[in-house]
Amino acid sequence: MYLRDNDGFIGGGGTVALAPPARRRFDRNTLRRHIERAADLELVIDLGQRIGSREWWRGLATCTALCALAISFAPGIAPLHGPVAPALGERQEQEMRVQAIAPSAYGSDTGRRMVATNLVERLTDTPERPQIQVTATLGTGDGFARVLQRAGVGADQAKSVAAMIADQTALGDIKPGTKLDLTLGRRPNKSVPRPLDHLGFRARLDLALSLDRVGNDLHLKPLPIAVDDTPLRIEGKVGSSMLSSARAAGAPSAAVQAWLRAMGQHVSIQGIHSNDQFDIIVEHHRAADGMSETGNLLFAGLQQGKKELRLLKWNSGGKDQFFDAAGVGETRGSMKMPVQGHQTSSFGMRFHPVLGYSRMHKGIDYGAPMGSPIIAATDGVVNFAGWHGGHGNYVQIRASGNMGTGYAHMSRIIAKVGEHVHAGQLIGYVGSTGLSTGPHLHFEVFVNNVAVNPASVKFIQAAQIAGAELSRFKATLAHLMSLRAR
Ligand SMILES: [Zn+2]
Repeated sequence: MYLRDNDGFIGGGGTVALAPPARRRFDRNTLRRHIERAADLELVIDLGQRIGSREWWRGLATCTALCALAISFAPGIAPLHGPVAPALGERQEQEMRVQAIAPSAYGSDTGRRMVATNLVERLTDTPERPQIQVTATLGTGDGFARVLQRAGVGADQAKSVAAMIADQTALGDIKPGTKLDLTLGRRPNKSVPRPLDHLGFRARLDLALSLDRVGNDLHLKPLPIAVDDTPLRIEGKVGSSMLSSARAAGAPSAAVQAWLRAMGQHVSIQGIHSNDQFDIIVEHHRAADGMSETGNLLFAGLQQGKKELRLLKWNSGGKDQFFDAAGVGETRGSMKMPVQGHQTSSFGMRFHPVLGYSRMHKGIDYGAPMGSPIIAATDGVVNFAGWHGGHGNYVQIRASGNMGTGYAHMSRIIAKVGEHVHAGQLIGYVGSTGLSTGPHLHFEVFVNNVAVNPASVKFIQAAQIAGAELSRFKATLAHLMSLRAR
């Protein structure tokens, strides 16, 4: 910014106002002013302003000149010429390949082939190694003696060795994929198979076997391996996918699938959310040498906020079942809720939404998502399972005494006619079949084959697990719950 009143300069920045000087005298002051004026000459003109003025034309000329200067320095786009390799003849090409180095992985055929000269003498018989070491693998459906024979053991010896192994452990228990380490010894001539000098392998997680030659006999030595059977507990957040979260936490996929199956019989799988916590306990056997195996699911847990579901696998009446730890051992005064849902319609006269007139509603409706599991409210025998008119897919269970329960509008029926079911056992899934406007369970209770209000009935039920079995159940659960998650 500048202000020079004495010489007629007013203002600053981009605007320059020139006023003619009063006198022209070439003294030192005038010269100084001319130099200053030249220094104030604006070179960078805004071509968007004052179009057509002298400064604008000067600016355009400067810009054009600078562009032309820059363009004049640009190099041409003429092609560059380089030397071209001369074409090789066939012989030269072969010679070049021989001397080149190419990766053998790509099927390289480089290098010179050497041919035996007259100086090479042929042997009448090649010498044999005194011992060879072989590794054989037991395949699925493979026979133990067959594997040995494949590895080079004679048929008779293979049979006797298989018999010796069978005395220690059932041959069927040896897992497919087991590696057998064999050492085959010296033989009198090439027409007979080599004798077995050593055989070593892992027969089971807790047992290795070693067979060694002592003199002319083979001696079998069992080598027991200590195994820790503490079950494996895996806990975590369900996240976007239960399967991938649990797999990432280290659970075997078979265990995760068993967990989902067990859960599916007590809650709706769709009702499991990403913030819920899962708890998986599986059989786990860890050998002293680091090898490990996981087995069946023992416990399935799910924590949904304050709500907790704990399912323990228990063998009752010769059948493995997942029991809800919260319900076991209690003598209930009323029936089990047949579905996780809310009551949408009660027992009594009501206007029927599908038929369009009022009639008796002979049960209680529970709204629940499509596919939610339906459980038997009482112990009993299934006396109907199938399509039943307006009931759609329908299951009826005859309980003790003169009582019965009915479950209508199912999407899928699990229970079978004549089957004995326990209270809490999965019998089907919520649907909207028959006279229904949306997925719900229509639940009925009968006394002497007459529908009564389910809310008015109290069932007295014996515990499913009782006495000494109940205390064993509780001890097992307490033991599993004391395990620390890995
Ligand atoms: Zn209903």
